Amino acid sequence: MKPFAFARPADVAEAVRTVAAEPDAVFLGGGTNLVDLLKLGVARPDRVVDVRRLTSREITDTADGGLRIGAAVTNSELAADRRVRERYPVLAQALLAGATGQLRNLATVGGNPLQRTRCVYFTDVSTPCNKREPGTGCSAVGGYTRYHAVLGVDAALPDASAPKTCIATHPSDMAVALAVLDAQVQVLGPGGARTMPFGELHRLPGDDPTRDTVLEHGELITAVDLPPLPAGARSAYRKVRDRASYAFALVSVAAVVADGEVRLALGGVAHKPWRATRAEEVLAGGPVTEHAVRHAMDVELTAAQPQPGIDGGNGFKIPLVTRTVVATVRDLTSEVPA
Ligand SMILES: Cc1cc2nc3c(=O)[nH]c(=O)nc-3n(C[C@H](O)[C@H](O)[C@H](O)COP(=O)(O)OP(=O)(O)OC[C@H]3O[C@@H](n4cnc5c(N)ncnc54)[C@H](O)[C@@H]3O)c2cc1C
Ligand code: SF4
Repeated sequence: MKPFAFARPADVAEAVRTVAAEPDAVFLGGGTNLVDLLKLGVARPDRVVDVRRLTSREITDTADGGLRIGAAVTNSELAADRRVRERYPVLAQALLAGATGQLRNLATVGGNPLQRTRCVYFTDVSTPCNKREPGTGCSAVGGYTRYHAVLGVDAALPDASAPKTCIATHPSDMAVALAVLDAQVQVLGPGGARTMPFGELHRLPGDDPTRDTVLEHGELITAVDLPPLPAGARSAYRKVRDRASYAFALVSVAAVVADGEVRLALGGVAHKPWRATRAEEVLAGGPVTEHAVRHAMDVELTAAQPQPGIDGGNGFKIPLVTRTVVATVRDLTSEVPA
């Protein structure tokens, strides 16, 4: 592990100034991802700035009937909050589907959406990886692709030797729920505070696979806001994985069903939590039958690009994610005729 300086500033403003002043400084939340990456030599900062005790650890009601969640709230605390369980079951279920009790006791609302991909080549510093070392190539192409993307993959790619190829997926369960809930992210940076829709926080690899989000260097997540759901809305999270616990999603679905509206977000299929807007448009205002949901997912997945691989590839995700959406929506609606 590369040696680094450690800082515990007095407040968030000082934390932002400290990180912004050094190109290779990073924030530390619960440390459950960053510390692993430090030990593996994947993250090599000069300075680690602890914000765990600086941002809010409160969950507060907002005037519009939603909730504001401080960035230091742990995943366990958020999943256990009665208001979250009653009003946003999709979020409580997504949190409890992630990691383990011990990890959730440390993992924070600020750090969880910013955890790095679990692509095995990203964490193996002996292999080429454009996300870890720009321009070296992508070992996942033609390699182990079971956990990799099928959506949002550049049509001209993937090419293993291309300097910009990345077919990694975003691993967070909580982020898929925040995407379907239309959450807002409160950010404090060197230029001041700003609010951004959660759906705009993460990005596709594009021409720079090293960047997972649109955050600028030194920008700190201070809170996440949940707007209220429409009256009578029901929501749920369903995760499919290789074993019953303690595994990342092969695919996952976060769904909200309200009067005349179906909202869908998908995990395990793209470089970012994937809001299935095409499927939502197909379903808008119509009867939510199983046939309609399948058709909507066919439209959503038109541009999907399954990846071949030494493990048989990830083409199985296409029918799997449709089945998972159908099952989730069926649970949320009183009648979905076969
Ligand atoms: C064995 C194992 C299994 C796991 N399984 C799952 C799973 O099934 N599902 C799942 O979703 N997750 C899973 N995780 C990941 C876990 O949920 C994340 O490691 C955790 O949520 C990260 O939160 P943290 O606060 O510990 O972040 P940290 O590790 O502290 O930080 C993560 C990143 O966020 C940055 N950061 C932290 N806080 C802020 C902030 N406030 N503002 C800006 N940047 C910030 C850091 O610089 C770092 O880049 C697993 C982890 C392990 C080790
Ligand atoms: S998929 Fe992305 S993270 Fe994985 S090896 Fe390729 S470039 Fe690296």
